[in-house]
Amino acid sequence: MARRGLFRWKIAVYVARIASGIVTPRDFDSKVLSRTIVEAIRNVGLQLRDERDGLLICPICLKGPFTKRGYFLHLTRLHYYQLIQLVEAEADRIVFASRIAEP
Ligand SMILES: [Zn+2]
Repeated sequence: MARRGLFRWKIAVYVARIASGIVTPRDFDSKVLSRTIVEAIRNVGLQLRDERDGLLICPICLKGPFTKRGYFLHLTRLHYYQLIQLVEAEADRIVFASRIAEP
């Protein structure tokens, strides 16, 4: 249970780093997480990235503008569970799409 909690926390942190621009999606990788989860984290991170004139707006609750660090903290503190749910849904979508694509 504790392990799973730590795992989820890491996923939320990775998403928030990409969304806030602390890390670019290209630079994010993990040897521990599956390819599907890595791709899902990249996609969700980009979906949550709404930058206007160098400042960040949260697309979930429309609050902002934030600095990179402020947005990172906002996402991990206020939208922790949503970040994980979004990654899980995106991972399901990727798996489903790859099954359809197979001959
Ligand atoms: Zn928000």
